[in-house]
Amino acid sequence: MKVHVYDIPEIGVEIEPQHPQDEWFYELMSEVFGSELRQATEATALIRLDRTEKNVTLSGQVTAPLQLTCDRCLEPFQEACTIEMLEYLIPAVQNDGRHHEEDEIMLDEADLAFSTYSDQTLDLKELIREPLVLGLPLRHFCQDDCQGLCVQCGSNLNHSACQCKPDDSANPFAVLKTLKK
Ligand SMILES: [Zn+2]
Ligand SMILES: [Zn+2]
Repeated sequence: MKVHVYDIPEIGVEIEPQHPQDEWFYELMSEVFGSELRQATEATALIRLDRTEKNVTLSGQVTAPLQLTCDRCLEPFQEACTIEMLEYLIPAVQNDGRHHEEDEIMLDEADLAFSTYSDQTLDLKELIREPLVLGLPLRHFCQDDCQGLCVQCGSNLNHSACQCKPDDSANPFAVLKTLKK
């Protein structure tokens, strides 16, 4: 979806993708979440654009219904993953081959994300792709206190305690013994 920068009103604008007319959004959901996405058309987003002259702030959130596998107990589970976005968009500097000291932007602030746009046009699909990918949780757990699997017998400790000796299960090398068999 393309938005002309100077079409963004003073008071800002909110964009809420709708099925089926905003096909770009559902395509992006499939590209970012892949096979973990349960139903692309059930993903939702609220994207806000605010403009101060040439500079635009993109904020909002995306929520996607996911089918995941727990990284501790390996059980499948479903979860709605919400990713918050905050991006600062500035016009791309025209490259005339010269070095412009004043055009350089310090990117030290970890929580400030700058992106650039060209031709006074924002391509929303491309602009929200990166914050989504970066915002994906690296690990998924079926519950915060998932007990995981016993390293010796493989029992799912969320369902029942196993009979293995607690001394061995506390030893991170115990799993090697079972692998060496
Ligand atoms: Zn789990
Ligand atoms: Zn066990």
